[in-house]
Amino acid sequence: MSNVDVIIVGGGIGGLSTAFALTRLGLKVQVLEQAPEFGEVGAGLQLAPNCTRILDDYGLLDKAKSLGVVPDRMVMRDAIDGSELTSLDLRDLERTYGYPYMVIHRSDLHGLFLEACRTAGVELLTEQRVTAYTQAEGSATVVTEHGTTRVAPLVIAADGLHSVARKLLVDDEPVSSSYVAYRGTVPVPELTRPVDLSEVVVYVGPRCHFVHYGLRGGDLLNQVAVFESPKALAGLEDWGTPDELDTAFAATCDDVRSGMQHMWRDKWWRMFDRDPISTWVQGRITLLGDAAHPPLQYMAQGAIMAIEDGWVLAEHLKRLRPGDGTPDWDDALAAYEAVRPEHCRRVVLTARAWGELWHLDGRAREQRNLLLRHRAIDDYSFTDWVYGPTALFPEDEPPMFEPIPLAAADLVVSDS
Ligand code: FAD
Repeated sequence: MSNVDVIIVGGGIGGLSTAFALTRLGLKVQVLEQAPEFGEVGAGLQLAPNCTRILDDYGLLDKAKSLGVVPDRMVMRDAIDGSELTSLDLRDLERTYGYPYMVIHRSDLHGLFLEACRTAGVELLTEQRVTAYTQAEGSATVVTEHGTTRVAPLVIAADGLHSVARKLLVDDEPVSSSYVAYRGTVPVPELTRPVDLSEVVVYVGPRCHFVHYGLRGGDLLNQVAVFESPKALAGLEDWGTPDELDTAFAATCDDVRSGMQHMWRDKWWRMFDRDPISTWVQGRITLLGDAAHPPLQYMAQGAIMAIEDGWVLAEHLKRLRPGDGTPDWDDALAAYEAVRPEHCRRVVLTARAWGELWHLDGRAREQRNLLLRHRAIDDYSFTDWVYGPTALFPEDEPPMFEPIPLAAADLVVSDS
């Protein structure tokens, strides 16, 4: 066997953050990335306290904050009339959970982990597309498209939504939501509307939503426009095109429509997730990140879950090193699999439901708005199970949330 302890397939945020976490334990880690260069496509990422807590543990939080923005408020507005529905006071949220809610350009976060991996001594290899996996007693082997074979006591597949390794565990396919995301970043001086950069804003509307927040110390505005594609629902191949974007947002308020001129119109992201699975480990191969639990993005927890996965696995490997310090790989994998799939199952399914709530129309939209306007803004019962400390053991996983303290009468919408 080679002297590599862990092979990680995929150099996205999940793969690199895990490589850093394991290298901190003194393990020799090799990352195999299919692309010619390490990098991230896209724009902003929201990082909740369950992630900034881990960044702090890694000694990376101050640098992340210097690259991003720590906003004061998160506000949900109705996309049709622009009215405020509910909000989170992010300074109070930071006091509650002990760590900030921040936003950062995804290439900056990826770059932060890449630099940390380089400094820590992770072996980073590009143009290494892994096409096959095999198992032996006490080791696993990967084969690249060029026929190179690599072996290690542990292989972590962090190879994203279209994971090759996932096929070892389940015969499933990505689930299309028929929704598509457009993104765009714009230098703040080029904006034609006033934008409060101390806020993360989400406008929720019938079959669409629009998000914006500042990036890079407030120099850039990040925008995401998401809508349900009629062409996707009709089963057409070319769905999510810019003409559909324009139609989807035609009836939204002025602020949302004026944001549309800054969207990138040459690239869009069709939104897929997968049904949750409870088995992520086969022998010495495990899934991690989107390979294990790709979500719809409505909870803004996809990259965070990937970072949490790596942190949890590293904590168990650190804990389970009997005798000469060699990790008990099997026990650590069992401990990881005992806690992470259930948490991620909850997030993936809640994200689906949360998206449905955002996209309501007609009377259901009015009822949602009424309900959200009644929410106490210091009520954290909905976020404790997500933003609290990442559980290492199943018994530490908090219950999902308490029932909403609303009287049924509050939900009756007047017809007048
Ligand atoms: P990926 O980023 O997909 O990385 C996989 C890597 O593996 C890639 O580098 C790929 O090239 C490589 N690879 C793939 N196959 C192979 C192979 N066979 N061999 C070798 N290498 C391979 N998450 C948040 O936490 N907060 C947010 O605010 C947020 N907003 C989002 C907004 C949108 C519009 C979208 C679409 C997603 C959002 N997410 C957010 C989700 C987040 O982007 C993903 O969950 C996260 O990036 C997944 O990281 P990953 O490393 O697991 O997978």
